[in-house]
Amino acid sequence: MNSTKLRLASAAATVAAVVCGVLVAAGLDPYGVPFALTVVCGLSATYTASELLMRLVERLGTVTYACRVEDCTFKAELKAGSAVDHRRWQEAAAAHPAHVLRRP
Ligand SMILES: [Zn+2]
Repeated sequence: MNSTKLRLASAAATVAAVVCGVLVAAGLDPYGVPFALTVVCGLSATYTASELLMRLVERLGTVTYACRVEDCTFKAELKAGSAVDHRRWQEAAAAHPAHVLRRP
């Protein structure tokens, strides 16, 4: 995913988080919840939704290169970078000198 799409996805995630917070606050209104508590719940819902959605957006923009040797734990995650960076880590994952094997 290129940086423009990532920015758009981040903006959409922010808007969705704010909408989520407003919906939670509006859902509490008919129950006579004090205004301050309603605001706190709305902000909390906004923050939680924002964290979740931003992690999802970050995951969408991350490319993982992992070693294909069985039980080797080597992997590289690139969140940004040029084509040269991606190629370099792709080659490193394919042929790195020391395989880090999982212990039983
Ligand atoms: Zn390996």
